[in-house]
Amino acid sequence: MLCCTILLQAQETNPFVEELLGKMTLEEKIGQLNLPGSGDVVTGQAQNSDIAKKIEAGMVGGLLNITSVEKIKEVQKIAVEKSRLKIPLLFGLDVIHGYRTTFPIPLGLSTSWDMGLIEKTARMAATEASADGINWTFSPMVDISRDPRWGRFSEGSGEDPYLGSEIAKAMVRGYQGDDLTKNNTIMSCVKHFALYGASEAGRDYNTVDMSRIRMYNEYLPPYKAAIDAGVGSVMASFNEIDGIPATGNKWLLTDLLRKQWGFKGFVVSDYTGVNEMIEHGMGDLQTSSALALNAGLDMDMIGEGFLTTLMKSVEEGSVNMIQIDNAVRRILKAKYDLGLFDDPYKYCDINRAQAEIFTEDNRHFSREVASQSMVLLKNENQLLPLKKSGTIAIVGPLANSKENMAGTWSVATVQNKSIALLEGLNTVVGDKVKIVYAKGSNLTYDAELEQRATMFGKELNRDNRSDAVLLNEALEIASKADVIVAALGESAEFSGESSSRTNIEIPQVQQDLLKALLKTGKPVVMVLFTGRPLVLKEESKTVPAILNVWFPGSEAGLAISDVLFGDVNPSGKLTATFPRSIGQIPLFYNHKNTGRPLQNKEGKFEKFTSNYIDERNEPVYPFGFGLSYTNFTYDNLRLSSDKMTENDTIKVTVDVTNTGDFDGKEVVQLYIRDVIGTVTRPVKELKGFQKVALNKGETKSVTFSITIEDLKFYNYDLDYVAEPGEFEIFIGTNSDDTLKTSFRLEMN
Ligand code: BGC
Repeated sequence: MLCCTILLQAQETNPFVEELLGKMTLEEKIGQLNLPGSGDVVTGQAQNSDIAKKIEAGMVGGLLNITSVEKIKEVQKIAVEKSRLKIPLLFGLDVIHGYRTTFPIPLGLSTSWDMGLIEKTARMAATEASADGINWTFSPMVDISRDPRWGRFSEGSGEDPYLGSEIAKAMVRGYQGDDLTKNNTIMSCVKHFALYGASEAGRDYNTVDMSRIRMYNEYLPPYKAAIDAGVGSVMASFNEIDGIPATGNKWLLTDLLRKQWGFKGFVVSDYTGVNEMIEHGMGDLQTSSALALNAGLDMDMIGEGFLTTLMKSVEEGSVNMIQIDNAVRRILKAKYDLGLFDDPYKYCDINRAQAEIFTEDNRHFSREVASQSMVLLKNENQLLPLKKSGTIAIVGPLANSKENMAGTWSVATVQNKSIALLEGLNTVVGDKVKIVYAKGSNLTYDAELEQRATMFGKELNRDNRSDAVLLNEALEIASKADVIVAALGESAEFSGESSSRTNIEIPQVQQDLLKALLKTGKPVVMVLFTGRPLVLKEESKTVPAILNVWFPGSEAGLAISDVLFGDVNPSGKLTATFPRSIGQIPLFYNHKNTGRPLQNKEGKFEKFTSNYIDERNEPVYPFGFGLSYTNFTYDNLRLSSDKMTENDTIKVTVDVTNTGDFDGKEVVQLYIRDVIGTVTRPVKELKGFQKVALNKGETKSVTFSITIEDLKFYNYDLDYVAEPGEFEIFIGTNSDDTLKTSFRLEMN
């Protein structure tokens, strides 16, 4: 056994890395574990910056938040020409949903349910970022969340572990491609490991406390999927797990990640994550840094706890050289895999930056992706698509805001190059339709709140006229229009990091505007901008048409117009539940049944069953929901057999027909329920989906294959098993509207 282990290690070590490691001093080794910010680097003067001195001294392994190929080239030159060992640097950035060409926020990308499209967005983001010198992105963010108060809901793929895993794989493939040594692929970093989306009360950076069985079955799968897809790095999350911050949690970073899952890349902390262990109550910086390194953290982002204390910890014996060497090895190996030792300037071709960033083709693709991500929530009397004639009044604080279109975490976007809705409408239909515009209201009544929700230059240019004047102006133009398009909702920075909300309704001033617009009796289409599921209980009753566009990215206005006028038929489906009330949170479709489930389907109150005295249980819009301009019917659900054994594959087929007047796409969803288990199992779980295109009148048979892998889960002992018995199968247009059948699993 021992000899096998030694052999395995020998096979895995990289001779180049080992040789280099052999030449390094302890200071240089610790330097490789340090990831500072780009600080005072200015193009043309990088050589004189403070950070340059550190790089020269071998005290830096990579830099965070530096953009532009010229600057990066200058800085890389310092590392490879002036530092003793000439080790190239990693350049990391949050390339989250596109680079300069910006795609919809990740939550919006997820609602396309189109893995090919999502992979291509990551591929394009990697091409643009690498053309600008970046070689490492802090994406994908795969944190499952069921609490829309949490602002970072916008950055993930919603509430479902299966869909989240598929998206995680697609994004890693997109960024890293099949060969990291190419100059247009970059290293991906899955984050935030782990469970960051389960922060108590939806308050950012808050405590997480969760049973292992829930972790394994519901929250960990997307991280594992990214690991299995070969992600190069992992970011530790800010939150604690079982009472120990993830940054210093050995069970998480070593036992689970490396020993159980076999991860071979390196782990970076989140921004000052090591230092924050002091506030968590884990001890001073030296203690926290040693704890983190010993737990399996390899790189320290920003805080320089490693840089300033590890030497002392080695001398005192609380950290040993094996741990340090292992961490350095992993970082050097990442640089080796990226091909940086062969050519440290491989990402520094200035001509590429000019030719490959924010091109017409890329922007065109962004427009297509954005239109695929929009979710039609309501369309009474087929109000949409709009006719390309007459007069349209466009109203609302989000109608004419370029700055907010890219959404949160779009650090490389050029805000004033994004296309606002008003501009998009004018471009797409301006020659046929008369378009009149008024802002109608500010984002919120509360100017201070509005300021907090419009940071980082994502201005809404608060209009200081009175609310009444703004409203009257809108009513005035609305009175002359055939249709009103109300662009309402959140600003880009109303969600995102450190933007949790306790009220997830549309802000009151906009609700008041909407009510007044509805009162005119004119047809109203609400174009909803949001970075999270909102409570739309009222609007779902009173507004005839609602198109949820999230934050669509740089081509927002064009893409929204494409959908509003029917050039694109919407096909997005929600990846997170829209609750009726904030009091229902957490609300998600794949919940457990309880011992006292509500018995009636109408949602009527029942004493002594699991429900509320003042609200129904179900959401306004369930997971998987989304309308089309056409209609789809499902019938003839059939199984290839009503029994399966361990080695069988069962085929389940349904006929889907487009019965409406438009060609369209439908996301056909497969859910499974394990009826009886040794532990309680969810009422249904997504296990497959297919996005199919159907011309009007067309029927397609859609088939899914089910194997034993689709029936497995982590049991009480955390063994990954399938248990014999009955399984219910649901196929339908959303998690709440399905056909049902069942089969039995029999084990030999
Ligand atoms: C965020 C990360 C991000 C990092 C680097 C942190 O504040 O939590 O998601 O990657 O900053 O910008």
